[in-house]
Amino acid sequence: MTEKVKIAMTWAAACGGCDVALLDLEERLLDLTRIADVVYWPVALDFKRRDLAALPDGGLDIGLFNGAVRTSEQEEDALLLRRKAKVLVAFGACAAFGGVPGLANLSDREGIFATAYGSTPSTENPNGLRPEPRCVVNGGERTLPEFHDTVRSLAQVAAVDLVLPGCPPPAERLIDLVEAVARFAATGETPPCGTVLAHDKALCDECPRNSTRRGGRVSEFRRPHEVLADPEVCFLEQGLLCLGIATRGGCGLSCLKANMPCRGCFGPTAQALDPAAEALSALGSIAGDANENDVPAHVMKRGVQSIRDPAGTFYRFTLPSACLNRAVRDVPAEKSP
Ligand code: SF4
Repeated sequence: MTEKVKIAMTWAAACGGCDVALLDLEERLLDLTRIADVVYWPVALDFKRRDLAALPDGGLDIGLFNGAVRTSEQEEDALLLRRKAKVLVAFGACAAFGGVPGLANLSDREGIFATAYGSTPSTENPNGLRPEPRCVVNGGERTLPEFHDTVRSLAQVAAVDLVLPGCPPPAERLIDLVEAVARFAATGETPPCGTVLAHDKALCDECPRNSTRRGGRVSEFRRPHEVLADPEVCFLEQGLLCLGIATRGGCGLSCLKANMPCRGCFGPTAQALDPAAEALSALGSIAGDANENDVPAHVMKRGVQSIRDPAGTFYRFTLPSACLNRAVRDVPAEKSP
């Protein structure tokens, strides 16, 4: 392949950090532009969706999709990018697993609207107005995207070729992506479908604090703001919950270097059935009374129960792609997902 690779980047339910992360490539961005042309990146340049739609199907080499899929418009964007791109990349934790927006699956559309348009302290909405997908204004119809009941990861909407995890993906892994693009430019080859551009061992395996683990028990987990953490010692030894035990490595340890425990944005390793089950099973063996070797179940339970917001902690980035991916609904699901 001698022509430059055509790349597109689009976003969905996300904070914008993934778009900014692309700039973290710094001078490697020039390497990228030497081998690739960005033909669609509406966050950064004045592109319209019609520019992407005008490309022939398969006419785009690499499509980068960041964000989870919450609305009908985001779903259309995902399917359009899938149709146009030879290689579709789930870029960042939200596209890969549902991310922080996926925690909305603990509620549903009605619950979210009732809070946002009804009960927050700053809401003033005497007529109980809600966003409507269709309305008529001055005789003309106006439309909004449908707000789905459930947040989904990209793979739950379209077939994904490459996964680049992280919130946002760190520069080291972006360089892997640039290299994959370079290989594609030279040979037309891509890694096998579904390849995750990260390590497949738990973060603990590459953490320098791992050597300080003594297997001590933790009777109560505390939060980072409650403790002045020792920067050399494993967080678990200090009673701080660190998800490095059940999270893929390869992130460059940036949180740990800043003396913050891992929050799990690289998602589980390939062997893990469910991110929270994996983490809880690891924690079950250390929760308990620090002064006793033979810990009764209720004492272990107390240790685990000291974790505040368990769903938000263990599924912070992964709820839509977990085994149980949303709260049970009292009523049958409507037509939208
Ligand atoms: Fe490092 Fe966290 Fe694993 Fe401890 S639990 S070794 S601090 S990644």
